This record gives sequence, C-alpha cells and structure tokens, in this order.
Amino acid sequence: MKVYTLIQMLLSATLSFAQDQNATMACSSIENLLGPTKVQSSGLQFEAGATGAWNLANAQLRPACIVFPLETSDVQVAMKSIFKSNARYAVQAGGHSAMEGWDNSQGGVLILFSQMNNISYNQETNTISMEPGLTWGEATNAMEPFGVAPVGGRASAVGTGLLLGGGISFLSPAHGFGADNIKCLDVVLVDGTLVVATVDNEYADLFRALKGGGSRYGIVTKYELYAVHTGTSADKPWIGGTIVYPSSSVEAVINATAHYVQTVGDPRAVSLVNVIISGEITAMAQVELFYNVTDTNTTTLPSSIFGELLSIPASSTNITQLSYLEVLNTNPAGNNSGSGETFGAGVFSTAESTQVYLDARAHWDNFTQAVAGTGAYFFTSLIFTPIPSSQVEAGRARGGNAIHAPLGGYVALNLGDQLTLGVAQPPPEADEAKLLFLNQLHRSPGFPFFMNECDKRQNVYETYGDYEFMKKTYMKYDPTRFIVEHMSGPPGL
Ligand SMILES: Cc1cc2nc3c(=O)[nH]c(=O)nc-3n(C[C@H](O)[C@H](O)[C@H](O)COP(=O)(O)OP(=O)(O)OC[C@H]3O[C@@H](n4cnc5c(N)ncnc54)[C@H](O)[C@@H]3O)c2cc1C
Repeated sequence: MKVYTLIQMLLSATLSFAQDQNATMACSSIENLLGPTKVQSSGLQFEAGATGAWNLANAQLRPACIVFPLETSDVQVAMKSIFKSNARYAVQAGGHSAMEGWDNSQGGVLILFSQMNNISYNQETNTISMEPGLTWGEATNAMEPFGVAPVGGRASAVGTGLLLGGGISFLSPAHGFGADNIKCLDVVLVDGTLVVATVDNEYADLFRALKGGGSRYGIVTKYELYAVHTGTSADKPWIGGTIVYPSSSVEAVINATAHYVQTVGDPRAVSLVNVIISGEITAMAQVELFYNVTDTNTTTLPSSIFGELLSIPASSTNITQLSYLEVLNTNPAGNNSGSGETFGAGVFSTAESTQVYLDARAHWDNFTQAVAGTGAYFFTSLIFTPIPSSQVEAGRARGGNAIHAPLGGYVALNLGDQLTLGVAQPPPEADEAKLLFLNQLHRSPGFPFFMNECDKRQNVYETYGDYEFMKKTYMKYDPTRFIVEHMSGPPGL
C-alpha cells in the first residue's frame, strides 16, 4: 500500500473518531437538557427509529443517539448543542429519502420527527398547519372531513420532507409544486435560532430557498399550507386509475408519453408513467391517469387528452370515479420499506422530440442488461412525471420557488431502482452502469432536475434557475458552512 494512501486512511479514521466523540458529547448535552425520554441511545424506541428509514442503506446507519422532539424548542436545544459540539447529524421526517445518508447518520445525532404530528385546519384562512412528523396519508385523512387536502405526495407513506425538495402531488398541475403551497414556515437555523419565514417578511429569501432547497437551509418545525378544496370521500370529482401494459406495448407507451408531454397542458389532467423492467428483464409499463372533472356525471377520461394511452393494448385497465383520497391511495407503492433503493434524475422539456424518449429507453435497456448479471436488482424502473407549464405558473403566482423552472413545461425522469432483498448498496459495476446511463441521458438545457428523485451525487441546485441566489442565501444563513460539512444532503452549495 502506498504511504500516501495509508496517511489518507489514518487521517480519515482520526477525523471520524473525533466526529463520533463530538456526537457523543452533543448527545449527553441534549439529554441533560431534554431528558432521557426525548433523547435515546438504546432501547426499543431507539431501535425502531434507527432502523425505520424506507431505504435499507439508511436503515442500516446507526446514530449515536436519536432526539425525538415534541416541540420546536426541543429542536432548538438539539441544534444549539450539535452546533456547539461540532457534531455530525441528520434530520428525518417520513424517512422516504432514497439518497444514502440524507436522513440518518452513522455515529451522529439523528433528529427524528416521529412524535411531532399535530395537524389542524383553519377555515377562515383556508390553511393547514402541520408538524413534520406526519405522512401524506395521515395528513390527507385528517383533512378529508373538512373537504380539503394539502398539496402533498402521490404515495401515502411519504412524509413532509417532500415539500422541501419541491414536491409533486396529483394536485400539482393545477396548484403548483407542494412547496408553492406553503404560506409560512417555522425554521430552526443552524445555531438553534427560531425564525418564522413568509413570502414577504424579513426572511423572504430563506422562505424561497426552502421551497426546493431541501435540508440545507435549516430545520422546519411547522408548515402552514394553503389548503385545496378537494371534497370529502363522498365526493368523486376525479376519473382515473391505473393501466398496466405488457412488454409488447412498452414502445407505444413511450411514444404516447412523449406526445402527452409535448401536447397536454390542461391543469386538470394528471399522469405518472412507470416503465419497469424486472430482474428477469421483462419490461412492462404502468400508467396512472387522472382527470379532475367539472361535471360529476362524466364517467370517462377525455379522449382528446388520454386517447393515445387508452388505445394501446393493455393487460389491465382500472378506470373509475374517485374521491381525492382514493386518488392518493391508487398506488400503495412506497408503503413497504426495508429494501435498498437508488434514484436518479433526468429532464426533457416539452420541445424534445419523441426520439429523445426512445433513446432514453434504449440507454436504460443497456443499463438493465449491464446490471442483470449482478443479481443485485429486484427491478429497475424509468418513471416519467409530466410537469405542465400551468404547474410552474401556479408557483410563480405564489411568489416563486428556488427551482425557478422556465415556463413551457417539461417532464421529470426518475431512474428508480430497487435492490434484491437484503442488498443495501449496488455493486460498483452496477453503480458505474448507472452513472453511465445518467450521463448518456439527454438533458434539456435550462430545465431543472427534481431533487426528490435524484442520485445523491447529482448537483440539482446547479440546474435551478435560482442557483446563484441559492448559494448566496446559503452563505447568509450558514456562514461557517456547518450544515454542508456536518450533514449529508444535496451537493452544490
Ligand atoms: C415510494 C416513494 C414515493 C414517492 N413519491 C413522491 C411524490 O409523489 N412526489 C414527490 O415529490 N416525491 C416523491 N417521493 C420522493 C420523496 O418526496 C422524497 O424522498 C422526500 O424527501 C421524502 O420526504 P420524507 O419526509 O418521507 O423523507 P425523509 O427521508 O425523512 O426526508 C427527506 C429529506 O428531507 C430532509 N428533511 C425532512 N424533514 C425536514 C425538516 N423538517 N427540516 C429540514 N429537513 C428535513 C431530510 O433530512 C432528508 O434530507 C417519493 C419517494 C418514495 C420512496
């Protein structure tokens, strides 16, 4: 072994030992202040918290202690100690990050929001006040009796961290990204200071940066969200559901997806297209289609929008009238946790040709062939989420967000891979094949990657219209760069 490599290894071992010591110091200081119920280093609640993340790669990390805050001041106490002790840390809400290290910390302090799950609706202001520990299923169920819903996730088990990465909902084409529907945020800054940020107060820059900036700008302890009138579960203003296509229809589905992105701008139309290849290299496609009707006597999807997808030979079609809660529960994917998972982002503007989609599929086929022999994958999937221009316009009407996408619309691509049970990390050759795929994938200049569906190494900020603003705002609120140096998260600031 070269002397240089040996020195590097020794330095890194010493650094990680010092960081572990710092975290242990922070843990005992926080425990002294908050007590042993809120700060745990062992026991059943600790074990459940330490291993509860959706992605096995994160569930296998072992924090020095877990802080279970009950209120904002607990988070302030924790952050003050973490900052003072120079400790590594992580923050977890719904635990659905696919990015390794983003919601748990090996040897660091984990702030876990599972006990902060209050939610209420204010009819006068039509806003929902919610704490970070809720899932979108819980929040939507709690709001259903009032006939309203938050603009949250498309899978019920996902949590509120979704909003900080932008957040795509079934309500997004009409109402913007989830983040666009934030009215007010309680934010604990890196040194433990609490601020309240809104679109037009003295923390307006922080407010904008948090709408798409992820975990890098502070810890949100309360979200006040604009509510959308979706009706109760007795109301069925949606037509839609899931269509599953066999392998022989996959190319036609890719073509139809391209045509949908290129032509559909109706904010009442929603689609999510999954093209999946299982471990045995058998392609299939699954499409979720919804339309928010104005006339509840309508029972079919408009053919002017969905006609091409509806005409492709399918293995199963399940289209019915639905309440918003039923729309949310159409796809229970994401409710199962415990497998290794990786994501990767791509983006095509509406101006891209159909060939760009077919090329993406060909590159993805090569990727799946390359990884098939490793036996490490249960399935790989290529997922298309159309973002119509109306979604971007709705966000601008609320003051804009950090993503600052151009008008005109685009489609967010996600390479979503699930590893074989018990495998937490892809083998190096599979990881190389994935990076090759992400590099080969065409990217429309000026259009943003979606943070919630990226590979942990992709510089998503750099793709934002507001990148310079993001860097400047980060330095304003964390001038010592503590967060980027002590917490794993999106790179690029
Ligand atoms: C099955 C599945 C379905 C998904 N569907 C959608 C979808 O429909 N739409 C969509 O937009 N995304 C979707 N995603 C992506 C998902 O939104 C992101 O992974 C999101 O970050 C998850 O939030 P969480 O609270 O569950 O996860 P966590 O892993 O707890 O948090 C995610 C990130 O946010 C940070 N964070 C969380 N809470 C706070 C806080 N209060 N303050 C500061 N930082 C915080 C964490 O540190 C972490 O970096 C899906 C993911 C999965 C696995």
